[in-house]
Parts: sequence; C-alpha cells; structure tokens
Amino acid sequence: MIPAAKPIIGDEEREAVDRVLRSGMLTSGPEVAAFEDEFSEYVGGRHCIAMNSGTSALHLALLAMGIGSGDEVIVPSFSFAATANAVALTGATPVFADIDRATFNLDPEAARAAITPRTKAIMPVHLYGQLAAMDRFESLAEEHGLQIIEDSAQSHLAAFNGRNAGEWGQTACFSFYPTKNMTSGEGGMVVTPDEKVARMLRLLRSQGMERRYENEVVGFNTRMTDIHAAIGRVQLRKLPEWTKQRQANAAFLDANIKGVVIPHVAPGATHVYHQYTIRIPVETGAERDAFMASLSAKGVGSGVYYPIPIHRLPSFKLTLDLPETELACRRVLSLPVHPSLSGDDLKSVAEAVSQTASELL
Ligand SMILES: *Cc1c(COP(=O)(O)O)cnc(C)c1O
Repeated sequence: MIPAAKPIIGDEEREAVDRVLRSGMLTSGPEVAAFEDEFSEYVGGRHCIAMNSGTSALHLALLAMGIGSGDEVIVPSFSFAATANAVALTGATPVFADIDRATFNLDPEAARAAITPRTKAIMPVHLYGQLAAMDRFESLAEEHGLQIIEDSAQSHLAAFNGRNAGEWGQTACFSFYPTKNMTSGEGGMVVTPDEKVARMLRLLRSQGMERRYENEVVGFNTRMTDIHAAIGRVQLRKLPEWTKQRQANAAFLDANIKGVVIPHVAPGATHVYHQYTIRIPVETGAERDAFMASLSAKGVGSGVYYPIPIHRLPSFKLTLDLPETELACRRVLSLPVHPSLSGDDLKSVAEAVSQTASELL
C-alpha cells in the first residue's frame, strides 16, 4: 500500500535527539534558539518564536495581537478545526466565510462581505501548501484597519508574488506536526515583524516570565523543548530538497492523471503540495468513499481533508450558507505526493486514479 503521508525520520534526527539527551538540557535552550534563528532565514528575517504546537502558535499569536472577547476574526470553514479553535479559545468569535472554488482558499470577496464593526482580524489559511490571495487580503486589511494572521501550518516555503508564507501578516503560524512538510515531532512557530508582539509571545509561552519569578502577565507553558527543536533543525535543512521533490511529484501527477480536476495553481503562486488534492465530480461523500475504496484496492492510499466544514462540527454547530465549502467537502481527495515516493509509486498512483475515474465516473 502506498501511504497518503509518510514522515521521514533518519539517522541525523536520531543523533540530534541523542545529543540533546546527553547534554542534560531538556527544555527550551540553545537548540530552540538556533531553530528560531534558522527558521527566520526563510521568512525574511522576521522574529520567530517556537511553540509546542501549531495550535498554541495560533492561539498565542491572536492573544499577542490583542484579540479577545467581543472581537471577530474571519476564518475559512474549509480547514482543520484548529484554525477556528484558536480564535474561540481567546474568547473572540470565529466568523466563517466561503472559499474560492479553484484554490480552496478563503475568498477575499466573501471575507469582505463578512466584515462588521467588531472584526479585528482576518485569518487566511494557506491550504494544501498554496498561499491565499494575500495581495488582496493585504489591501482589504489596509482599507478596513484589520490585522492579518496567516495560518501557515501547511505552507512551509510556499510563496506568492515572491514573498514566502510568513512574510505577509502581523503574525503567521507554522506547524511541525509529523504529517506536515517538515516535523519536530510536535511543534509550532509564530513569525512576526513586530518586536512588541514577539516579546509578548515570549512572555505568553513561558508563564509571563522573562526574568524568573517576575511574572509580568498571565501566561501559559507552551514552550518547545530542545529535543523537538533538534529534530526540527535537521528537518529544516532537508526541507528545500523535499519541497522540490514534492513539486516534481505533483508535476508528474498533473501530467498523467486523467478524468478528475487536478490542483489549480494561481498565477504568481509557488505551491509546496502539502497535499495534492484532486476534485472528483461526485454528488455525495458516499460516491467519494467508493472512489477511495477503489484506489485502496489498487494499493493507493488517499485522504479527505476535510469531510465536514468546521462550522458544522459538533464543537461549533452553526447553520450557515457556504456553498463552495460544502461542495469542496464532498468532492476533494488527497493523493500521495510525499518525497519518499518512487517513480513506480507515482506511476501506480496516476494509473489507479485514471482507471478508477474511467470505471466509476
Ligand atoms: C496542522 C494544522 C494546524 C495545527 O497544528 P498542530 O501543530 O497540529 O497543532 C492548524 N491549522 C492547519 C490548517 C493545520 O493543518
């Protein structure tokens, strides 16, 4: 079976962890500081603040931006629940807006229509490894005096008009969960150009303390450990090569898959293919299940990100009219695109998809 995702852990990662364990320095220390410095090189030299997860990164970034009870933050409903959870955890209200059909990303016009006097920020998600239409969100934010927070959990090294994910918002948040394009085991990173926001994030992640026992604000413990940072540093060095491999794999699938809609790359976008997501012309989730079962019978794993829009999950339970979100939830399917696929694997994926499309559609 060709797996839909596969974290790559090698000797270098094992040796890095061993080095930390031998040093006796287990919590945040020199490895975290070095990881932050090294990550900063990929986000235009902005401040980087490491966290224990992407979710903590989003939650604390919103708090550091001053967002809380009574505020509204515009988010897509077609994303992982953490996007909206982070907003709700601050006491603010996530306001769900519809997506653009071609890219699956938050639609700037839908976001504009969702602005109210309470709106404080917009949180575009760079879904599947492609940046949202950041030029348009930038003008929208400027026009209405709003902040932007990028959910960059799936978009390490992705770019739009020559600027990377992380180089657009007041803050941007990355995840290093094992299935992401690089991992630290668990982990996250907030990126910001704002020195004050950076300082607040360092306080919030560590009990509100800069100097020990002189707690300045009410804070959390969401620090990254040196063990995780050591893994992340090794992976970050491999990330550019892995990204090229993902892009080459996607180009092969683009050229060889027939009968379904392949990913659309917007002009100016550098897609990093966290997921290679096709759209199949089906009416129900059950028909997609049959498509997946057929792929599975041919030895090809696949996944659905995401089958239920966030606003309809039991945790939010809202009735909203988001037709493009609903359509995407029924029709998307993500195929293996990870860097460990062989040439034969890629051929099998393309053949299985094209054959299934001709049998079932
Ligand atoms: C993975 C992910 C997160 C959360 O990151 P964790 O590290 O798992 O907490 C948030 N948003 C999106 C879009 C994600 O894919």
